[in-house]
Amino acid sequence: MATKIAKDQCQVLVVGAGPAGAATAYHLAKAGIDVLVLEKSAFPRDKICGDGLTPGAVKEILAMGINPVEEGWQVNRGLSVIGGGHRITLPWPEKSSLPSYGLTCKRTELDQRLIQQAVACGARLIENTAVQDLLTDADGYACGVSAIAREPQTRQKKNREFRARYVVDCTGANARLASRQGRTPLNNRPMAVAARAYFYSPRGNEEMMESHLELWDGKPGHSNLLPGYGWLFPMGDGIVNVGLGSVSSGAQSTNLPYKQIFNRWVANLPKQWGLSEEKMIGSLRSAPLPMAFNRKPAYENGLLLVGDAAGMVSPFNGEGIAPAMFAGRRAADALIQALGRTSRAQAELALQEYPRDLQDQYGGYYSLGRVFVRLIENPKIMHACTKYGLDKPALMRFVHKMLSDGYERRSGVASDRVLQILTKVVKPS
Ligand SMILES: Cc1cc2nc3c(=O)[nH]c(=O)nc-3n(C[C@H](O)[C@H](O)[C@H](O)COP(=O)(O)OP(=O)(O)OC[C@H]3O[C@@H](n4cnc5c(N)ncnc54)[C@H](O)[C@@H]3O)c2cc1C
Repeated sequence: MATKIAKDQCQVLVVGAGPAGAATAYHLAKAGIDVLVLEKSAFPRDKICGDGLTPGAVKEILAMGINPVEEGWQVNRGLSVIGGGHRITLPWPEKSSLPSYGLTCKRTELDQRLIQQAVACGARLIENTAVQDLLTDADGYACGVSAIAREPQTRQKKNREFRARYVVDCTGANARLASRQGRTPLNNRPMAVAARAYFYSPRGNEEMMESHLELWDGKPGHSNLLPGYGWLFPMGDGIVNVGLGSVSSGAQSTNLPYKQIFNRWVANLPKQWGLSEEKMIGSLRSAPLPMAFNRKPAYENGLLLVGDAAGMVSPFNGEGIAPAMFAGRRAADALIQALGRTSRAQAELALQEYPRDLQDQYGGYYSLGRVFVRLIENPKIMHACTKYGLDKPALMRFVHKMLSDGYERRSGVASDRVLQILTKVVKPS
């Protein structure tokens, strides 16, 4: 007997309700577009992350009508960078285009709040619905998805189909729909893997995030240098998100014994952090970070890719939330224009604005990031850079701007202009 398939319709179907999906849905709903979000899990749900939000992410959160300070999220004032025997404290710069503070917020809380905001604006959300495949029309153009919906109480599963004018893949690093369409990861883009755990710590309420550009397996400077970088991000409530990652310049991510490296590194961190096995909350968990637009094109045949699904994580610092939310806002702009056009050809022109916007914002910057990754994937080069560079405050302020995507895209001071030139001379690709 054939299974009965229920159908649902909307103008735009957003698959995945992380920061990319929530931002896309919010900006579409705000413009009165009928947008339906399908999410395989149910909120609140966790996502493995460092939970660090730069001023760029704060800007996107504000653009969704959420005031993070009123939400009570932990505000931070900048980054302490440690490496090569030096420590340097770098406050977020005062700028016209970005706020001068960052945040930390657990993803269980952040992601739920973001999607709630989209729903409050009129987006529809269906949870417990795992999208399986893209449906296409006779021209190969996306027109919906097939999914398996799970009834949470009975755990019964049901096949469903959803129809839409456009589909947006926001499914994160697995890029379910992009993969089905053959948009596989590019070999020449960096890929990182990172692992994190939460700890109770006396320094859990500090206002600076801490970044370690080197990992040592014993006393810093007198033991072996391990590949990778580490972080300690105070979350408030006496909790710290502690993690480490390693990046490789090609599609093949590094295959390191993360747990072993993590334990050795944590055991050698300064005692003031108070980190020990007894203070650990839950377990160490890892996940991939697809970088520098590792899936292309971001738009083709009615399917847009936003966030990790398009590999939008920054190769400079592993930040993926700000780019995902920026891209969601720009994807929504392009879709709003396309839906108002009178022919498919006209709508296609409007949608081509989306990949162009991404290139303008991140194209040159991420190309520069790829050069950066090729240099620092070797721990010895990283050591030399930190040893001779970190004690030069002016140089480090410049590097901080570069690593945290904190430079002005227009005008600004001398360091902004140097970065504008550098990102233009490297060929965006
Ligand atoms: C260890 C680690 C540390 C990190 N630290 C930071 C950090 O400090 N700051 C930062 O900015 N970034 C950080 N990142 C990167 C950041 O987590 C991602 O870039 C970000 O989550 C991307 O958002 P997204 O919405 O594209 O994807 P996701 O957040 O992964 O959301 C995807 C959503 O789609 C849903 N989904 C997946 N498949 C389907 C399907 N078939 N059907 C329906 N729904 C589906 C998922 O359940 C999920 O809700 C880190 C990543 C890792 C692994």
